[in-house]
Amino acid sequence: MERPRVGELAPPDRLLMGPGPSEVHPRVLRAMSTPLVGHLDPSFIDVMDDVQDLLRYAFQTENQWTIPVSGTGSASMEAAIGNLTEPGDTVLVPGNGYFGERMAAMVTRAGGDPVFVEAPWGEPLDPVAVEDAFTEYRPDLFAFVHAETSTGAKQPNVPELTAIAHDHDALVIADTVTSLGGVELRVDEWGIDVAYAGPQKCLSCPPGASPLTLNDRAMAKICTRDTPVRSWYLDLSLLQEYWGDERAYHHTAPITNVYALREALRLVAEEGIENRWERHRRMAGALKAGVEAMGLELNPEDDWWLPSLNAVRLPEGVDDDAVIAFLLEEYGIEVAGGLGDLAGDVLRIGCMGHSARPGNVLTLVAALGDALE
Ligand code: PLP
Repeated sequence: MERPRVGELAPPDRLLMGPGPSEVHPRVLRAMSTPLVGHLDPSFIDVMDDVQDLLRYAFQTENQWTIPVSGTGSASMEAAIGNLTEPGDTVLVPGNGYFGERMAAMVTRAGGDPVFVEAPWGEPLDPVAVEDAFTEYRPDLFAFVHAETSTGAKQPNVPELTAIAHDHDALVIADTVTSLGGVELRVDEWGIDVAYAGPQKCLSCPPGASPLTLNDRAMAKICTRDTPVRSWYLDLSLLQEYWGDERAYHHTAPITNVYALREALRLVAEEGIENRWERHRRMAGALKAGVEAMGLELNPEDDWWLPSLNAVRLPEGVDDDAVIAFLLEEYGIEVAGGLGDLAGDVLRIGCMGHSARPGNVLTLVAALGDALE
């Protein structure tokens, strides 16, 4: 066989203003070039402790069970859904975006029965509809998406939704992939039992180690399951041996990703979580004002506008693919088009983490103006 001749890696210079990944902070990139130690090295155990403490701060939780799951956001998602869903469980999932459908697919694979609470794509769930769905289906679990990346809609009134679920004795799983570290999120105060996230959005960290937190009620359900979790890799009762007190081998942790997450979370703690939420609101607010000044509108109403992901309605007759290609080719800016019910109608512009800075917003607004001329 001939030896392949592959050139040195030279990715193009991009400004990442899409639905993720976002720009990675230079300090995080530096952390990733730090030499490896073993995943059971005493110094790495300290790193694990740091990451767990920092994650609790970002999630605003006291949950003991707060860890990075090895893998992308879908791994922490499947860890949450797959561990909490037992065969025969009914799980209420949202019908207002792309990621509710992924939740349903994971529920089915875990042997559960997904049922939907419907709302139009781009709108949040209505607590009345959630209450009605509880009466109709009596679900064991309720999962919702706090920040729907596919539509740019934020789920408001979270405490109201969790109260409904708890009144019906169900546990609550929140998808916080596009909110953790960028949009107000208070896991304990809001009564969320389980939350999962991804590092590549508002934490501005490469994908690979994905945050997950569970309270004692959720862990009790997992530890008293009648049947083992279908995935060995994501079985939290086994992962407990590594991330719990024993620190015993389960699998080789992605050490470099854990270093990266630690540095990204240190940046969150240095900035202060409330300040960080405020910065995202301010930067995305400038972006919103800029596109509105061009005569464009955001798809979601202000009450459920999601600062980290701005779904901008395109004028009639404008081809989204052409705008996306123009921004990439002429300005090196990455944005994305709509999905599902919003395909072809909106541009999805991220304002996340290290990308959420004044110069980036100005560049994006100017480039979009040029694209639409
Ligand atoms: N949930 C939401 C809301 C997301 O936006 C994403 C990714 O964009 C995921 C889950 C899945 O994460 P990943 O693509 O990192 O596996």
